[in-house]
Amino acid sequence: MAWTLKSSVRECEQATIWSKVMQSSTLSKKDLIAATWLKLSSMESLKAIPQCGQHRVSKEWRQTTFEYKDSEISVQVPKVYAWVCPMDGEASFTPETVDELITTVRDFIEAAKRTRNRQSTLREYIISVG
Ligand SMILES: [Zn+2]
Repeated sequence: MAWTLKSSVRECEQATIWSKVMQSSTLSKKDLIAATWLKLSSMESLKAIPQCGQHRVSKEWRQTTFEYKDSEISVQVPKVYAWVCPMDGEASFTPETVDELITTVRDFIEAAKRTRNRQSTLREYIISVG
């Protein structure tokens, strides 16, 4: 699994959570939100503007692209609001956003798997809603 999030610690933790979500049905969405919330709030105060621990600068609330990637399927979700480090683009997503991303990305992974299984020659899609 590869991630656009650049912090090594966070990357590792997020990847762990995501692989559990993708592979197991034992972890409920509620558990996941709680776990994500704890991780985020332990790393930075959610009441203040979060700082990048590596660059010692304030992160900016702006749009970024979330990317999920495994060996065969990648899903990109552009224009997602997150706290973003201006130096290296490392993004911290809020728990609410993580919740939405999980639901959305799961749906598209299922769709992509169906497409792969029928060996469609169409390999790339851009989908927008609303
Ligand atoms: Zn940074």
